[in-house]
This record gives sequence, C-alpha cells and structure tokens, in this order.
Amino acid sequence: MGLVTEPRAMTEPRASASGRENFPVLDQRVHGKPLVYLDNAATTQKPQMVLDAMNQFYQVDNSNIHRGVHELSERSTRHYEEARVKIQRFINAADWREIIFVRGATEGINLVAYTYGRRHVQAGDEIVISAMEHHSNIVPWQILCEEKQAILRIAPINQRGELLLDEFEKLLGPRTKLVSVVHVSNALGTINPVAEIARMAHRHGAPVFIDGAQAVAHMKVDVQALDCDFYALSGHKMFGPTGIGVLYGKAALLNKMPPYQGGGDMISSVTFAKTTYNDLPYKFEAGTPNIAGTIGLGAAVDYINEIGLDRIQAYEHELLAYGTAQLERIPGLRLIGTAREKASVLSFVLEGVHPHDVGTILDREGVAVRTGHHCAQPVLEWFGVPATTRASLAFYNTRQDIDALVAGIYKVKEIFGCGAGSQPARDSQSRQEVSS
Ligand code: PLP
Repeated sequence: MGLVTEPRAMTEPRASASGRENFPVLDQRVHGKPLVYLDNAATTQKPQMVLDAMNQFYQVDNSNIHRGVHELSERSTRHYEEARVKIQRFINAADWREIIFVRGATEGINLVAYTYGRRHVQAGDEIVISAMEHHSNIVPWQILCEEKQAILRIAPINQRGELLLDEFEKLLGPRTKLVSVVHVSNALGTINPVAEIARMAHRHGAPVFIDGAQAVAHMKVDVQALDCDFYALSGHKMFGPTGIGVLYGKAALLNKMPPYQGGGDMISSVTFAKTTYNDLPYKFEAGTPNIAGTIGLGAAVDYINEIGLDRIQAYEHELLAYGTAQLERIPGLRLIGTAREKASVLSFVLEGVHPHDVGTILDREGVAVRTGHHCAQPVLEWFGVPATTRASLAFYNTRQDIDALVAGIYKVKEIFGCGAGSQPARDSQSRQEVSS
C-alpha cells in the first residue's frame, strides 16, 4: 500500500442556518427519541471537519514536532504551528508567541497561579475573583493563597447573577496582585463586563486573568481590545477536541514568568550544571504536546470562522430569548441566572423535583442536559440551591430543541404530580429555526 501524500481532503462545512448537518453525533436516537443535545457548556459536539483534520493527521502526517528533519515531522510541525496562528487571529493576540497550548482552561489558570502567582504574590497580598467562578478559577488561587498566606477576595453579585461592579472596585487596592474573573458564567450564563473590569484593575496596577472557557464559542473575543493580561480557553467547548486549550498572555508578562513544567522542548540548552530555557511560547510547552488535538482545534477555529461569530451570536441571542420565554411560562420553574447580559445558559430549578430526577426523565425523552452544581458550588449556594438543571445552547440548537426540553419538563411535572398545568398549546412559530 502506497503512502497517502495528497493534500488534505476535508469535509467542507455546508452553510446552513444551524450548521447541524455537519455534526454526525447529533444525528442519532437516544432511548428511541431523536437526540436533543443541550449540554454544550459541559462540552460541545465536533463537526466532521474537526474529526477529519485529526484523522488526517494520524493517517498521513503523524510524527513528533520541532525535532525531526524528516518530511513527516516538518509537516506535523507546520500544521501544529499553523493552528497557533489561527488561534492568535481568532482572539486577536498581538503575537503568535503569546499563544501557549495547554490541556484546557483549567491548566491555563493553574499555569499562571503556579508561575506568575508564586513569583509575585506574598503574605498579605490579595487576589480578587468573583462570586460566580467555576471551581477551576477558585481552587488554584486558594492553593496559592494558602501557600503564600495571601487573601482571596470575592466580588459579590446581585439576585440576577450580575457582578456588582462598584463592590468589585472597592476590593481593589495596593495589595491587589491579580484579578481573575470569568467572561461568561457556566452556571448562570452571565456575561461579565471584562473590559471595564480590566480598566479598573489596571488603575491599581493589577493584571487581569479572564477565564474565557464559556465565551469563545458564543461571541467575538479580542484580547487586545479587552486589554486583559491573560485569557484561557478550552478547545472542547468550542467544537474542538478534549485535552487541548489555550493560555493567552501578554508577552511582557510571560517573558518574566518562570517555566511551569520542565522537560523536552521548553529548554534552550541543558547541562548538569545549568539549564537555559527556550523562548516563548515553547518555554511553557514542556514535553510532546497534544499535536492532533491542536490541529483539531485549528480546524474548529476554521469552522467557527466559516459560520461567523456575528451570525452565531445573533442566532443564539434569539434562541436564548425564546428559551427563556418558554421556560418562564412553566409553573413552578425558577430560572437561576437572569442577567441582562447573558449567553447560552438556561439554568433552573423545578419546585418539588430534584434536578437529578429532572435530568434523568429528560434523558429518557432524548434530551441531554446537565444537572448538579456545575463545578460552581459557591454561586449555587449563594442562590440557596444545591443544584440546578442546566440546558446550554450552541448554534446548532433550534427552537425544536427548546420545545422538546419544555415538553420533557411537563412530563417531569406529570410524573411527579407537581404544580398546576399541562403544557399550553405550542407557539406555531416555534417549528421554525430562529435564523432561517
Ligand atoms: N471555566 C469555566 C467557566 C468552565 O465552564 C469550565 C468548564 O466547564 C472551566 C473553566 C474548565 O474547563 P476545562 O475543564 O476544559 O479545563
């Protein structure tokens, strides 16, 4: 059998209202019902184009990068580095060296906590986060504060789940060594005013970390316009593979930070007496990276660009408004997170029914949602609920998906005999896709 060295034959994304037909996994039945996938905040599905890109890598190019002088290694290196430039353009970083490949948003946050944090935070210093953070943006700072005898300050939120900017500002001062906030809350859907937060923090000389795990698949992110110092994202939450993510950092800061992990590729030279480190971004990429995952992430960026983030944002905005209106009509249902600036999340509790029961019954109806604390226990405690049911949207979801969710919730109510009301007659418009 000959070697396949033809140029990449990838599946072209066909433009449609939802792009749904490009996602093979969505085309299946679960428990005999058509799958309605509403768990996109946990992980998004992958378009054929991403699957093809990774398959192509293993079938045609597979080799280690930055090391070999042979053709396969050069090809793999080229595709890996092309993905870095795609990400650079995607978030409008000033330089490709500011893009560091990591495992996901969690690793990006830990990298900064362990390097920047350990170097700059001392006893009595303060780190400011918000009350709506994911555990990934709480625990690394807690570990750092514990080790350094520093203080973690929590900026409060209101009943809608919006950050109280005035209160946040009051927490800033000469002791603030870092501010780290979520761009879009995974538990509530709140979009935080991160550019304003960065301006406030910078007035006090504190760098700003933005956890963008839930933002990049739903809105255009421009790290230079936001003027954030660090930004983290996860590939699998933006239609790319798991095990790959990005830490963006301003070069001036990254250059001054010590390495995170030691190993191959992050060095410039090694002797037993002394090791000197590689330049950015390689200083922070020790060992063989997730090459296929990185290439898959590059393909996911291509895919998103092809559909267009403006279009995605407008479509999802309408879909969220539709979903909110439908859920609000259900007796006994309380939405958790009603921020005026909100993206893609419908988190709720249903009177008299545990969210796990809601999730289990919805699953029998083919509707996949997440139930639990969504790795954001403190914010749910703040709302006085141990768990919610969360439906989270992506651009391939439709009004029919929302209708299936609503019908499933009425089924739950029927089974539990709770509250008044069977499902009202359906809105005739709801059969259409929002952006068709
Ligand atoms: N931050 C937010 C807001 C998230 O929603 C998540 C995952 O759900 C993370 C961070 C962690 O992402 P990952 O598990 O991909 O590292």
